[in-house]
Amino acid sequence: MRKRLFAGNWKMHLDHLGARALIREIRAALDGSARALAASREVIVAPPLALLYAAAQALAGSDILLGAQNMHYEDRGAYTGEVSPLMLKPFGVRYVILGHSERRKLFGESDEFINKKVEAALRHRLNPIVCVGESEQERHAGRTLEVILGQLEGALEGIESAQMAAITVAYEPVWAIGTGVNATPEQAQEVHGSIRYTLESRYGKDTAGATRILYGGSVSPGNIEALLAKPDIDGALVGGASLKADSFSKIVKARLD
Ligand code: PEP
Repeated sequence: MRKRLFAGNWKMHLDHLGARALIREIRAALDGSARALAASREVIVAPPLALLYAAAQALAGSDILLGAQNMHYEDRGAYTGEVSPLMLKPFGVRYVILGHSERRKLFGESDEFINKKVEAALRHRLNPIVCVGESEQERHAGRTLEVILGQLEGALEGIESAQMAAITVAYEPVWAIGTGVNATPEQAQEVHGSIRYTLESRYGKDTAGATRILYGGSVSPGNIEALLAKPDIDGALVGGASLKADSFSKIVKARLD
């Protein structure tokens, strides 16, 4: 059974006081049921890189894990404004979101660039959450699976079966991110099923069956249970709703059948 995973992507929101306060509130909402929840799910918060220290302090002693929203693939060098995997590790960062559609679209990240980051994360024992997602136009043109599977193949180029244990895939349709319009559970399942099928052809049934595939895009307390009811949806990457302790903790506590 795949452990469900719920990751809050705070994007470029909050300051260090806001980050501390939000973690305090999330802990207050989750800590009472932490042991029961930990049996079936993992919880991650991914603050902006500059807030990792404040977040790490606020998370001390909690089961909630720390994630980063991005990193460079080199350990060090002349890369103004970038942060390397080596710099993330001392804060206790365990997961790193790679290839988010905002990185692809606004910062021109290619599949090849993302692939280098995936390799670097694995080299440093960070767990990549590899994001894939089609635009509205691509969906309307009937190209959804072609786009998703192309991004997946590109990001996982050269990655071997044994390395997949550290990797999570996140399907995030671009048209659903921050819009309040989520993919229906059926639309999401169609893509998740294809991702798992692709992983199976590439790595075999056991590896594909053990890989977690998250859904992201306007996830809320109102739609999470229907999404999780689908066989290939193993959790959620949550943007807007992760910025409020009440909505994020309700998502994390969603009923699992
Ligand atoms: C995201 O940006 O990863 C995301 C899923 O955002 P939202 O939940 O706000 O749609």
